[in-house]
Amino acid sequence: MRATLDHIGIAVKDLSAALAFYRDALGLEIEAPEEVASQQVRAHFVPVGESKLELLEPTGAESAIAKYVEKRGPGLHHLTLRVDDIEAAVAQLKARGVRMVDEQPRPGAEGSTIAFIHPSSAHGVLIELKQAPGRTHGSSLTGDEAQVGADPPVGPGPVRYSVGELELISLSDGLLRMDGGLMFGVVPKTDWSTHAPADERNRITLAMRPLVVRGARTMIIDAGLGDKESGEFLDTYGADRRYNLNHALADAGLAPEDIDIVLASHLHFDHAGGFTVRDAAGRLRPRFPRAQYIVRRGEWEDATHPHSQNTARYRADNYVPLAEAGVLQLVDDDVTIMPGVKVRRTGGHTTHHQMVIIESGGKTASFVADLIPTTAHVPDSWIPALDLYPMDTLAAKQAFAREAAAKKTLVFFEHDLATAAGYIRDEEGKRRVLPALS
Ligand SMILES: [Zn+2]
Ligand SMILES: [Zn+2]
Repeated sequence: MRATLDHIGIAVKDLSAALAFYRDALGLEIEAPEEVASQQVRAHFVPVGESKLELLEPTGAESAIAKYVEKRGPGLHHLTLRVDDIEAAVAQLKARGVRMVDEQPRPGAEGSTIAFIHPSSAHGVLIELKQAPGRTHGSSLTGDEAQVGADPPVGPGPVRYSVGELELISLSDGLLRMDGGLMFGVVPKTDWSTHAPADERNRITLAMRPLVVRGARTMIIDAGLGDKESGEFLDTYGADRRYNLNHALADAGLAPEDIDIVLASHLHFDHAGGFTVRDAAGRLRPRFPRAQYIVRRGEWEDATHPHSQNTARYRADNYVPLAEAGVLQLVDDDVTIMPGVKVRRTGGHTTHHQMVIIESGGKTASFVADLIPTTAHVPDSWIPALDLYPMDTLAAKQAFAREAAAKKTLVFFEHDLATAAGYIRDEEGKRRVLPALS
């Protein structure tokens, strides 16, 4: 078989110390991290010519990397060889009596297929074989077709919380990449890139986390990017749809028919893309067949009459079919949507952007959508450049952060890679987030 060195995995104990060496002392570029929630690991790739280094940071005590570091200390962990035909490679190795960790190739990161060789057969080295996407499974960026013949990869999975009588389930609609400058506004790259390293196109990786609220009725707030986009759009936004809302709903034990209410924070494509689907005949229809879709009237007006400053994020296919199907309900004010759930206009990001306040049994939670898209955006000046009215974002964020700290509100961060929800704390004038356990 022909094999090329793809990358070398390095187990890291202290990420900031590792960055001080690889990034600062060696002067290498670090790409945006990839979260592999199922393995409790965050991978930071460092391009070096044709190959890469992969700094592996454990995110939980159960992670294999954490155990490795505990037992043997930080250092070389594995090396990865890229092969053209992984099925043939594994068959060849097995025929020669090589012991495999994976008897069958399985899905790996970014649409690849992988199989590990046991170190006992490789003279003490853990070797990963990898077949790049696009050989037998199509491009990693085309959604479900990419998975023909493979099980869907394991994603971040649903995370359940309870707030009084209500059950909240944080879901995932895959990952997206956005320009780091757009996401952090006046904050210099030297500051934001330590929180969210940029890739070679200056993009950072964002999650999309719709939230299900189960109470008197079953509601979903936002629905991610959806499955209608293709080609250049998916490439521009680096969409990774291997684990998406279809998988997440199924993992949460929910079918699209179970959803009574779909509530929109606003109609940008990374929130409303999953509101509609294209059927086999090419027609657009509501994705949740029994649901009423609730949108703020001002947001609807803006989305259906975009201007040069907001047009890039509005795509009519995501919401116009809802009006045509007669399932659209427009609301004008800060109203109660169902018992314990109400909306509140924040403005800032879009003129009529709204957040969702959830209250039950003396407890509160909040789905803040693009008011505070990630935990990095909690401090005052961390406001996306794409916000239409950043000073309104600032005022709304300050007021909300004070309220959330006082009420111990469970805050959901829709675009955060690592933290689905947490508590905002004021510690000596510094605002921080304490991640919540489900
Ligand atoms: Zn938005
Ligand atoms: Zn967004």
